[in-house]
Amino acid sequence: MKISVVQNILEANQRIAEENRQRFSAHRILAINLMSSPGAGKTSLLERTIQALKGEYQIGVVEGDIQSTYDAERIGKTGAAVVQINTGGACHLDSNMVREALPSLEIQNLDLLFIENVGNLVCPAEFNLGENFKVMILSVAEGDDKPLKYPLMFHESRVLLINKIDLLPFCDCSLGLIEERALQINPQLKIFHLSCRTGEGLKDWVGWLRGQVQKGKDLPS
Ligand code: MG
Ligand code: ZN
Repeated sequence: MKISVVQNILEANQRIAEENRQRFSAHRILAINLMSSPGAGKTSLLERTIQALKGEYQIGVVEGDIQSTYDAERIGKTGAAVVQINTGGACHLDSNMVREALPSLEIQNLDLLFIENVGNLVCPAEFNLGENFKVMILSVAEGDDKPLKYPLMFHESRVLLINKIDLLPFCDCSLGLIEERALQINPQLKIFHLSCRTGEGLKDWVGWLRGQVQKGKDLPS
């Protein structure tokens, strides 16, 4: 019995995700579902990325948190359009929450939409929100065993951003091992090393992302 309930939830989620996807595509928006454990640097990455691209693109952010508007306030200071979702205890975003948030963003004006998921390495990977692709952040302080313990997140992501590389001298963490283990799960994974604190490595990520936004714009209508 329990199995069929879970099945129904995921099917309903998939249906609404497909509607979201069609809306993003109709407006030629690149939508990214950003996932990580709490404290890995999702909001810091968004601040840096928005600073780098705001002169070129209209950017919107859906902020998902269990409670508070703290992150939405941080993003608001960058000048990007932002809406906060409070899940009220739920540990991931689903496609219906994202659909409900979209009217606050005037999405017809956007080129790029970031959906910052709830900090959690587990179930956010199970829920399609209608995004073009998922990006995950892993900070070196979390350790190089994470691909072994949370493989689904690495499997579902298109991009792995390894953050806080400025802390490498203080952590028993091997970049090589993270990469090797992550690529074993997902050989297609695109990997960048960066530090949102120092700015190191951000150029490569931003350059790649610019290419992805442009690719969507260049498609024939
Ligand atoms: Mg955050
Ligand atoms: Zn959850």
